[in-house]
Amino acid sequence: MDTDNPKIKKAFRTAVKAWNKPQIVKLIWTDHRSNANVIVNSGDLSSSASQPNVGYVTSQLGSTQTSYNPDYHTMIKATSTLDANQLAYVNDQFRAHVAEHELGHALGLAHAPEYEHSVMVPRNIRTGITKQDIKTLRMMYR
Ligand SMILES: [Zn+2]
Repeated sequence: MDTDNPKIKKAFRTAVKAWNKPQIVKLIWTDHRSNANVIVNSGDLSSSASQPNVGYVTSQLGSTQTSYNPDYHTMIKATSTLDANQLAYVNDQFRAHVAEHELGHALGLAHAPEYEHSVMVPRNIRTGITKQDIKTLRMMYR
């Protein structure tokens, strides 16, 4: 956790609990940055929007950069960022859903097609993590 913003911290804590709940992955908080596979923080995404988005998966309110080991298809590191300004006046639940979406990317999930019931549909993150998302996660981590 690389932010002091209490709203963003709460959102990521809620999102980690939600992804851990089906007991497929177990995300553990660490105080040691070098041990972390996923770094979560807050930032101003509006300033980076004009720059090339290579390697970034963005949903305006949040962004996740990932790097994978191409030999083993395993994640090396991911950084998920929530835009603290844009998320300042939304409710806790919505903010947590944005964090769930971004952590989904950090776990290796791509965007889901619009017709699916999934937190990974960028315009439909209000659904939160669905059975479909848990199914996808299980296929990836079994
Ligand atoms: Zn996304």
